[in-house]
Amino acid sequence: MLVIGSGAAGLSAAVSAERTGARVAVATKTTLQANNSSKAQGGIQAALGDDDSPGLHAEDVMRSSHDTADPALAEVLTSEAPGAIAWLEAMGCAFTRENGGYRLARCGGASRKRLLQVGDRTGHAITKTLRDELEAGSADVLAHHRLTALDRASGGWRATFATPDGGDEIDAATIVLASGGRCYAEAATRGELSTNHPNATGETTRIALEAGAAARDLDALQYHPNGGAWPVTMQGYSIPETTRAYGAVLLNAAGEEFTDSLGARDVVSQAIFDEVEAGRGVQTEDGRPAVWLDTTRISRHDAEVSLPYMLRRYRGAGIDPLTEPILTYPVLHYQNGGLVIDTRAETTLEGVFACGEIAGGTHGRNRMMGNSLLECVVFGRRAGTAASEQARS
Ligand SMILES: Cc1cc2nc3c(=O)[nH]c(=O)nc-3n(C[C@H](O)[C@H](O)[C@H](O)COP(=O)(O)OP(=O)(O)OC[C@H]3O[C@@H](n4cnc5c(N)ncnc54)[C@H](O)[C@@H]3O)c2cc1C
Repeated sequence: MLVIGSGAAGLSAAVSAERTGARVAVATKTTLQANNSSKAQGGIQAALGDDDSPGLHAEDVMRSSHDTADPALAEVLTSEAPGAIAWLEAMGCAFTRENGGYRLARCGGASRKRLLQVGDRTGHAITKTLRDELEAGSADVLAHHRLTALDRASGGWRATFATPDGGDEIDAATIVLASGGRCYAEAATRGELSTNHPNATGETTRIALEAGAAARDLDALQYHPNGGAWPVTMQGYSIPETTRAYGAVLLNAAGEEFTDSLGARDVVSQAIFDEVEAGRGVQTEDGRPAVWLDTTRISRHDAEVSLPYMLRRYRGAGIDPLTEPILTYPVLHYQNGGLVIDTRAETTLEGVFACGEIAGGTHGRNRMMGNSLLECVVFGRRAGTAASEQARS
C-alpha cells in the first residue's frame, strides 16, 4: 500500500500498516520532515483527567463545531484518544508530566483540562517519534515525490508523481491520502499571513476530487486567533493557545478584556476582528491591525514548563512576554473540511483512504485546538490498518 504525505497522519498510517505486515511505501512532496505537523506547538487532546471522559470530549467537539461535526467520527476520535496517547508513549514520545500524572491544560472550547503537551513543541515530538519508528522499519521512503494524478489501475490505483528526475508512477492496491490542507496557498492568494508550511497547498484534494471523491465543508477555513503581529519576525507565528490556557487574556487598546479568552476558536477570532473593526484595536508599527495578548499574567513556572519555545522566540526578537504584553491578530491556519471519510477512514472511492487535515467531518466547520494532531494519530492508525487489510483481501 502507498501513503501520500509524511506528516503525523501519513506517518501514523505507515507505521500502523507496517505492523500488520503490509509492504508500505511513503511518498512525500519534499523531505520527510517538511510538514505542518512538525510546527504544531500547543498540544494534543485526550480525556485523561479524573473528572473527564471521552463522552465529555465528544460533547465539546460537537458544541465547538456548532453541531456540524459527524457524530460517528467525533465518537471515534474521542474514544480512541487515550489509546493513541499510549501508542505514542510506547514508541518513546514523552508527554510533560507533573505530580505523578500528565500536565493537562484547558484549551479553548473545552469543558475540562484535557490538553497534553511536550513543552511547546508537541508536534515536533510526535512526528520525530513516528519518523524514528518508520525509519527503523522496512517501508520505502520516496522523498521529493509530488503527487500529480490518481487513476484507477488493474487491481487498485496508479499514482503519478513529479520528481527531480522527471517523474514516477506507482501502482498500489490501496492508497492513503495524508497530504494535509491548503492554507499556505489560500493565504498567498488572499494576500494574508498564514501559520502553515509552504507544502500546504492542497493539490491532492483537487486530484482526489477529479478522481471522483466527495468532499465536505471545503469552504470552512479556520483562523488561528493568535497570530504574531509584531515584531516583523514574529508575523505569521502561531502564538500557542496554551498562553491563554495558562492565564493570558486578550485586551483592546484601552486595556479592557473584550471576549472570553477561552472561547471556541471561531468565536475568539471573530471577537478580535469585531474589536478592531469597531476602532478599539491597536496598530503595529508597520500599520497592521492587532490587539494585545497580556502574557504577563502567565506564571513564570507555567511559562518555563509549557511555553519555553515561545519565550525563546519572542526574547530573541527583543520582547519578553512575561514582562510586557504582545501584539496579536488572527491568521489563516487550518482547513476544517476535506474529503468525506467513513469511520475506517475510507473515502467515497473504494481503496482510497484519507486521514489528517485532508479529511473532513471530524471537526465539522470549526475545529478545537489539540484535536488535529489527535485526528492524525487516531485516523492515521485506522487508515493504515484498514488500507493494508483491504490490500491483502
Ligand atoms: C504552526 C501550527 C501550529 C499548530 N498547532 C497545533 C496544535 O498545537 N495541536 C493540534 O492538534 N494541531 C495543531 N496544528 C494543526 C496540525 O498540526 C495540522 O493540522 C496537522 O498536523 C496536519 O497533519 P497532516 O499529517 O494531515 O498534514 P501535514 O503535517 O501538513 O503533512 C502533509 C504532508 O503531505 C505532503 N504533501 C503535500 N502535498 C503533497 C503532494 N502533492 N504529494 C506528496 N506529498 C504531499 C507534505 O509535504 C507533508 O509531508 C498546528 C498547525 C500549525 C501550522
